[in-house]
Amino acid sequence: MSRTQDAIAAAEAHSAHNYHPLPVVVATAEGAWMTDVEGRRYLDMLAGYSALNFGHGNRRLIEAAKAQLERVTLTSRAFHHDRFAEFCARLAEFCGMEMVLPMNTGAEAVETAVKTARKWGYRVKGVPDGTAKIVVAANNFHGRTTTIVSFSTDPEARADYGPYTPGFEIVPYGDLTALADAVTDNTVAVLLEPIQGEAGVLVPPPGYLPAVRRLTRERDVLFIADEIQSGLGRTGKTFACEHEGVVPDMYVLGKALGGGVVPVSAVVSSEAVLGVHRPGEHGSTFGGNPLACAVALEVLAMLRTGEFQQRAAELGDHLHHELGLMAGGGAVEAVRGRGLWAGVDIVPSKGTGREISEKLMDRGVLVKDTHGSTIRIAPPLVISKEDLDWGLDQLREVLAV
Ligand SMILES: *Cc1c(COP(=O)(O)O)cnc(C)c1O
Repeated sequence: MSRTQDAIAAAEAHSAHNYHPLPVVVATAEGAWMTDVEGRRYLDMLAGYSALNFGHGNRRLIEAAKAQLERVTLTSRAFHHDRFAEFCARLAEFCGMEMVLPMNTGAEAVETAVKTARKWGYRVKGVPDGTAKIVVAANNFHGRTTTIVSFSTDPEARADYGPYTPGFEIVPYGDLTALADAVTDNTVAVLLEPIQGEAGVLVPPPGYLPAVRRLTRERDVLFIADEIQSGLGRTGKTFACEHEGVVPDMYVLGKALGGGVVPVSAVVSSEAVLGVHRPGEHGSTFGGNPLACAVALEVLAMLRTGEFQQRAAELGDHLHHELGLMAGGGAVEAVRGRGLWAGVDIVPSKGTGREISEKLMDRGVLVKDTHGSTIRIAPPLVISKEDLDWGLDQLREVLAV
C-alpha cells in the first residue's frame, strides 16, 4: 500500500466517520499550495472554508504566533492578560462596534449570539421570559451544536440529534415577505448569513439585506450577520454586508480571524447588546486567550490596509469572468458568488460534485463539493493570478471530457 493509502486506512480505523475527505494526505503547505505525504503538490482552492484567507504558513501570522508562544499562551479569563484589551479594542474598532465577546469556534460564537439576543430580548426589549424567537433562513449553515442543528433544514446535519431546541422560525432565504410575516413581538433577532456558503454560495437578491435591516430596526429586533465564512476579505470587502451598505447589530466572526493558525471567533456588537452579560453568565476557558489574541491582532493589522480585500475583489472579478465563460460553454449550469468565492453548479451529466472534485484532485487542484453537482471555489486571497488561472484551466479540462 502507498503511504497515502496507509494513512487513510489508519485514519478510518481510529476516527469517527463523520467526514468523507478526498483521498489526499497533506504533509506541508505554503501559500496557496499543499504537498502530500508522497511529495505531490496541490493548489488549495478551498482555503479551509475561508479560515486560510491569508494562505498557509503566512509569515506574519506564524511570527506573531511564535513570539506569543514564547511569552504566555493561556491564562483563562480568571485573570487578565496583556493582549486581551488590545484585541478587543482593535476588533471592535475594526468592525465599527463597541464590544467584543471572544470564543474559539464559529459554532460557539453563533451560540453566543443566540444567548446574547435572548438575554437582550428579556432584559432590554421586555419579551416575556422563555418566549424569545429568533428568525433564521432555510438552507442555513451556522455550525454543529445541538441548538444550531435544531434550526438547520439539512436532514444530514439534523437527523437523530433531537430533541431539538425550540425558539427558532425558519423562512425562505431572500424572501422578505416571509421574513416580515415571521417577526412577532417576541422576536429578538434575525440571524442570517449575508451569503449562504454551505448552501452553495447563494447571494440573496439585491435589496434583501437592506430591507431586513429596515425591518429589524422598525420592529426592535437584532440583525445578526453570521460573517464567519463571508467576512474578513473573502468577498472583496471586509464584510459581505458592505456590498449592500448594511451594518448589522451584531457580527459573528470566526474562521479567518484565527488566520488558519488557531481557532478564534467572536461576537462583535454594541454596548447596549453585549453589555447584557454579567460575570459568570457566559464564558469559555480558551476564548480570548493570549495566543488567539496575538494571531487575531496580526490578522486585523493585515486587513486594515485593505490590500487583501482589494486583491479578493480584483482576482474575484477575474474568477467570475472566467467561470462565466465556462457557463457559456455548456458544462456549467450556474455560477454564484462574490469576490474570490464561487459556487459552481456543474451540469449533472458531467458527474457529481464529488466526482468533479476527485478529478480535479488527480490534476492537483483541491476543491470541495457541496449538495449535488455544486463545487465551491474559495482559494486563499494570496493566490497568484497565474496559479488561479492554472486551477481554472484544470477545471476547464475536467469539464471538457
Ligand atoms: C464554518 C461556519 C460556522 C461554524 O464554524 P465552526 O468553526 O466550524 O464551528 C458557522 N457559520 C458559518 C457561516 C460558517 O461558514
